Amino acid sequence: MRLGSIEADGTKFVCAVGNENYQIEDQVQFPTTTPVETLQQTVDYFKQFPDLKAISIASFGPIEIRKNAPKYGFITATPKPNWSNVDFLGRLKQDFDLPIVWTTDVNGSAYGEYVMSVLYNERIDSLTYYTIGTGVGAGTVIDGKFVGELGHPEMGHVRLKRHPDDLDFKGICPYHGDCLEGLVAGPTFEARTGNKGADVPLTDHVWDIMAYYIAQAALQTTLVMRPAKIVFGGGVMSEAFLDKVRDQFKTLMNGYLDVGELADYLTMPLVEHNGSATVGNFALAFNAVNH
Ligand code: ADP
Ligand code: ZN
Repeated sequence: MRLGSIEADGTKFVCAVGNENYQIEDQVQFPTTTPVETLQQTVDYFKQFPDLKAISIASFGPIEIRKNAPKYGFITATPKPNWSNVDFLGRLKQDFDLPIVWTTDVNGSAYGEYVMSVLYNERIDSLTYYTIGTGVGAGTVIDGKFVGELGHPEMGHVRLKRHPDDLDFKGICPYHGDCLEGLVAGPTFEARTGNKGADVPLTDHVWDIMAYYIAQAALQTTLVMRPAKIVFGGGVMSEAFLDKVRDQFKTLMNGYLDVGELADYLTMPLVEHNGSATVGNFALAFNAVNH
């Protein structure tokens, strides 16, 4: 069955068609410019596939997810210029009379990791997926459903205890300054050191500071939600950096809760190259056809 996937973030759109076995048949990528232009490009792409059965959208946010809200399907108050109050889902519905799933980018990724875990025979019913990229956010799946009813969670904007060596840094979140996103999003490397993250060696102390904050987020998520595992994706993450996060998590947890093998509990995505959302979209689109 031919299914469509849209992964929309503040810098690019990745559109793909594939099937319920999560195989990608075709994929394109274009920059996020204006809503009119970028959504038209999206529509034009999927028009090439007349046998499409459903589409799933995993979008940057904040977005309106309440189905009975007047602005269901909108991107709401995003700091991304031009994209506030945009009827994303409505634009797709103008051209496609199909089931269209509407969720956040991180929920899409969380769902992708959830279905992949099943394929890998991990017997889990829940997980949280964090992206540490241009922005920071997380989504949680429990028994195939997303956490969040009045809206989607905003786990990127939680408050944290500051690292003693980082007190001079104000953070870069336009709303909160030093929330999680304000302290560990990719652009904080430039803000703290003047260099891109990719050019800052892992031996630099800034990575320990970042690991301390991400470990706190993982600790809180563990204490509040008790998911079977927490997956970390996004451009900032690597296995070597995640090891630093695991070390700090262990220290902060101080033996209080059993999370099993730490390397299996705090993990990189099963889907490589940040492709989790595409897999998640195919799975969600398939479900939408069958319900
Ligand atoms: P997005 O969040 O926009 O979808 P990514 O997940 O790829 O995109 O994250 C991009 C961010 O990750 C940028 O801020 C970039 O500087 C940062 N980044 C990319 N590679 C690295 C790296 N090796 N180490 C640290 N940060 C990186
Ligand atoms: Zn914030």
